[in-house]
Amino acid sequence: MFWERDIETLGPKALAALQMKRLAQTVGLVWKDVPFYRERFKKQGVKPGDIKSLDDVRRLPFTYIDDLRQSYPYGLLATGTSNIVRLHTSSGTTGKPKAIFFTRKDVDTAANLIARCLVMTGMTKRDVFQNMMSYGLFTGGLVMHYGAERLGALVIPAAAGNTERQMMLMEDFGTTSIHITPSYCLYLADVFDKKGVNPKKVLKLKRAYVGAEPHSEETRRKIEEVFGIDVFNSYGLCEMNGPGVAFECQRKDGMHLWEDNFILEIVNPETGEPVPDGETGELVLTTLCRKGMPVLRYRTRDLTRIVPGKCRCGRTHRRIARMIGRVDDMFVVRGVNIFPQQIERVLMSIKGVGRNYVIELAAYDKLTIRVELASAAGVSSVQDLALLKGEIEGKLRDEILVRPGIELSEPGTLPVSEGKARRVIDVRKL
Ligand code: ADP
Ligand code: ZN
Repeated sequence: MFWERDIETLGPKALAALQMKRLAQTVGLVWKDVPFYRERFKKQGVKPGDIKSLDDVRRLPFTYIDDLRQSYPYGLLATGTSNIVRLHTSSGTTGKPKAIFFTRKDVDTAANLIARCLVMTGMTKRDVFQNMMSYGLFTGGLVMHYGAERLGALVIPAAAGNTERQMMLMEDFGTTSIHITPSYCLYLADVFDKKGVNPKKVLKLKRAYVGAEPHSEETRRKIEEVFGIDVFNSYGLCEMNGPGVAFECQRKDGMHLWEDNFILEIVNPETGEPVPDGETGELVLTTLCRKGMPVLRYRTRDLTRIVPGKCRCGRTHRRIARMIGRVDDMFVVRGVNIFPQQIERVLMSIKGVGRNYVIELAAYDKLTIRVELASAAGVSSVQDLALLKGEIEGKLRDEILVRPGIELSEPGTLPVSEGKARRVIDVRKL
């Protein structure tokens, strides 16, 4: 099923031609109307006329998170505020928010991209869609909402939190699809467990869109099993409209990134040079359709790679792999670089481990992982607990090359966030 078959299956040449046309327009627009970019272009010694082919995108300056922060509030606008209809900001997981502006056309374009994503996973206008992401400044609420409405689904703007009410709405209105953070989805599963209710029996749920934070394939599988549904990975960031940048199709093998709207580059995070095809690096994105606030070569800090080959769903837009995390998520313990994702992958693959965990880093690089037990783990005796602890320690050591301390706790005892999970507490930095 397609929302815009022609564009979604555009051949490589036609897609490149479309990108080139839109890139030239975007470069022309920021040169004319955004002093910040004109200055940057001059510093870099590049003029709009120099951008003759898609490869020339590399001659353009990068835009960094700090540029957005320093241009706060109105510095990167490409039009007067009378043409702007909406403001969104980042969720602020890392410092001051970044302000992103939408013209009416931009709101429309973003909604259309979401509709493409949802249809790609099999959603139709007959579906009941419950959006459990925070509404307000965060894009996960409204941007997703507009897209699902565009498609014609029945949208329940439940917003984040209030788990009891979420469950009631799901049951009463026969919700078939939800949009949720993976960590909150696991928490939801815990609450069903605690109530002794089997979600497969009481819900009509078919699929969940999970995003806004890194998560592993193992976590996806866990959610799919508990709810008996399909879980699709959704990647986006407010700087690029929010959700709807890249999304999994029914093949669930990488996320199609809408290349008619964004130019996709993967660079070495240290040098900014392109990495060889298929290698992991930092995702860099350029908006091609944004009118209110175009952003060129944005350094997302997110680490991924391009999935090689054609997707059997027929879409030609290239796919990016599940995010490893942000460049800034990496922490160093006794000289070893570790991503929280590596830890999550191991934990979620061990039977007996529950759905929540916290990574703690203390003085002298002491690494402790607090892990919740699964309720149905069948760990009853002290010996069982010791065995489980040993298994977790051993498997983690093999993966991250450092042996962490493990603290087991009862299910549902570690802190939960309704929005993005806070997985790493680094007291070395406090
Ligand atoms: P903030 O920078 O304040 O978190 P956003 O709310 O816009 O701002 O969050 C965007 C970021 O969330 C992305 O840059 C990425 O790090 C993370 N993210 C979003 N979706 C995913 C996903 N599916 N997998 C991994 N990380 C994701
Ligand atoms: Zn596909």
